[in-house]
Formats: sequence, structure tokens, C-alpha cells
Amino acid sequence: MSHNLRRGIALAVGLLCGMTSAPAHDGHANAHAPTLSGPECLRRAYPEFWAPDTEALVSRSGQRFEFDEHKDHLQRTDLLNQADLKSQMAQPYTPGFAGPPPGRDHDPGRLRAQPFFTALYGATPAEVQRHLVTVPWAPNGRTLPFTRLNGAAQALERVGRALAQEARTADYVRRPAGSVLWRRIAGTPRLSVHAFGAAVDFTLPHGLGRYWQWSGCTEAGACPYPTAVRQDPTLQRVVAAFEQEGFIWGGQWAHFDTVHFEYRPELVGPACTR
Ligand SMILES: [Zn+2]
Repeated sequence: MSHNLRRGIALAVGLLCGMTSAPAHDGHANAHAPTLSGPECLRRAYPEFWAPDTEALVSRSGQRFEFDEHKDHLQRTDLLNQADLKSQMAQPYTPGFAGPPPGRDHDPGRLRAQPFFTALYGATPAEVQRHLVTVPWAPNGRTLPFTRLNGAAQALERVGRALAQEARTADYVRRPAGSVLWRRIAGTPRLSVHAFGAAVDFTLPHGLGRYWQWSGCTEAGACPYPTAVRQDPTLQRVVAAFEQEGFIWGGQWAHFDTVHFEYRPELVGPACTR
């Protein structure tokens, strides 16, 4: 085992402590039981959004959200388009590369309750735009537009500073391939998280940029995971730096999108899992 791999695993284990239970798709020991409920994880992850002093999921503007909208009966492909907060939180996100690739349909964070995200970041391009700021991106000395809400822009800036400290990790994220873009996910009615200014893609080197749709996979079918992606020690450190700051990585999905990093602190925050 290389030093880098060992360091990455140590980091992953550290992140797991007090944060998540054993994921359903691999054989990790369940050393760290979940300590917070899904609603509590949402409340802690987005403190600017929720009204204070209430246990209910009510926004500061008075919009009330049900955690469970009783959608368990829906087929997964239908649930993707109509996810509620419960299904959004239902699959545990496992940071790091220590475990095997995600099992079939294990896409933690890919189910998103769209009304929650439009309330959080904006329901129109103009509303989203109001919250965008210019983030210094240390790996290339340029800037990226990103939402400032819920600490997202500051978190992204910290990731960039951390990755810039090492030439190899800086090189992996020197070429952003889009952060803010008002668009729907190809072939679906769902808005991309890029529409909200809360996700960023990079052109990764060495053929590491892989997307399930480019591999000829379908939403409903099994998709062979590009395992070489998880054997790259530099990418491992890149992913760890993002995860440490509240971002999830699209490479943790069975429907993999390895160039994609998305600000989802409710999934990687302390003590949060389902
Ligand atoms: Zn993306």
C-alpha cells in the first residue's frame, strides 16, 4: 500500500468517525453509528435557510417542508424526478476510496428534492444570480462563480487553497469545466445543481473524466464502474479535500460522473447519515 493510499484511507476513516454508519453496499464494520436524523442533518447543513427555534423544517420565509412525503412506493426512476427529502437522505454517502465502487443504483445525493433546492438557491436564473459571488480558485489563479449561500463559496475557496498546496493536486483541478449554468439534466425534467451555482466540474487528466451516459449506460440498467478512477492516488486526495469541506463527488455514484463536485453538506456533515 502506498503512503498516499494509506494517508487517504486514514483520512476517509477519520471522516467516517462520528459521521456515518456502514454503507449498505460494502463490507465495512459498523464502527460508527449514525447520531443524527435526516431532518437534523438538513437543519445543521443549511442554518441560513431554516427558521431558528423550531424542530419543523420551516424556512425563514415561512415555507414548510415535509421530510417524508410517502414516496416509498415509487419506482426508482420515478423517484429521481419527484424525490422528497427522505429519499434525498436515504442512501449513505461514504467518503474516500477505502471501500469498493458503489453497488448498483447506489447514488447517494443524486436524488434531490427539487422544491427544496429551488427554495434554497433560487427558482429562476435571476434569483440564483443574486447570490453568486466570484470565488478565487487558487489552483489556477483565476476565479469561479459560485453561490455564497450556506457557506458554499467559502468552502470552495478553502478547497482550492488546500489543493494548490501540492503541484499534482493543483494540476488536476486547474481546468474547471463549468460551475454555474441554468440547465436541466440531460434527458430529464430535473434542474442540474449547476443551475443553482452549487456544483463545479473539472477536466481531469489521464482519462479520469468518466460519465455514465458516455459509457452507453441507461438509467435503469447496471453500469460497469470505471474502477481505474479509484486507483488514482492524486484523485483520491482531490476528492478528500472536497469532501472535507462539504462537497460530494459524482464518482461515488453507480451512475458515475467523476468530473462533478457538488456542495451537499447534509450528506458529509458531522454525524450525518441514514
Ligand atoms: Zn457537474
